[in-house]
Amino acid sequence: MRIDILTLFPEMCRAVYSESIVGRALSRGLLEINAVNIRDYTQDKHNRVDDTPYGGGMGMLMQAQPIYDCWRALCRESGDRPHLIYLSPQGKLLTQQRARELSELPHLALLCGHYEGIDERVLEEIVDEEISIGDYVLTGGELPALVLTDCIARMVDGVLPNEEAFSRESHYDGLLEHPQYTKPYEWNGKTVPEVLVSGHHANIEAWKRRESLRRTLERRPDLLEAAELTDKDRKILEKLQKEDETLF
Ligand code: SAM
Repeated sequence: MRIDILTLFPEMCRAVYSESIVGRALSRGLLEINAVNIRDYTQDKHNRVDDTPYGGGMGMLMQAQPIYDCWRALCRESGDRPHLIYLSPQGKLLTQQRARELSELPHLALLCGHYEGIDERVLEEIVDEEISIGDYVLTGGELPALVLTDCIARMVDGVLPNEEAFSRESHYDGLLEHPQYTKPYEWNGKTVPEVLVSGHHANIEAWKRRESLRRTLERRPDLLEAAELTDKDRKILEKLQKEDETLF
């Protein structure tokens, strides 16, 4: 899979995606990620890429021309038209489900805004989708683009040891993950739940599912409506809810 990040701050992007698991995936050739500098495409003799907004208002806006030319050059160089996502606080909220769908595309391009944002006309012309990483405003789209890149990259074939490494994590099937423990068995007077050292595979799996349901019920009950639940899960949830009521 290939991801191109269109940005005014390519070094900021490279510093993040060349590290850790994603960085190793790049050197193993499982992914290709490029940070493309929009400023390289300006026609302004002073290298400017922004100007004041029409109608007044605070700050500067990124101009259409450098972004459009950067996009056209990318399409020419790659010989295709990647799905282009503009990272924006006005976009649809990023979900694991959407990231999973995007991880199946061969080529993505991510457009990062800066300052007060981007001239609307170029967005209308080239953007396929707008994604927000949360209901708050950041100074630029670089961190959101890196969040999206990381989230997608770990679901690309071969990046993690196997599908189980991400399919059992929070949000994949709509639930939060159960609590986890590592060695030593006893730390600070606290031991690990007995079932996890019992060696009884079926009991361990049942415990993990129950604790995942419990955690979701306690922390994010809103997720349960859309989660993939079996009849057994629903019975467990009813029981957990009753336990909860008897505590008060
Ligand atoms: N004036 C814009 C508005 O009110 O909608 C906000 C511009 S913001 C200061 C600058 C850039 O940061 C945006 O163009 C976008 O690329 C990025 N950005 C900020 N918050 C974001 C978020 N929550 N999700 C995704 N991108 C975000």
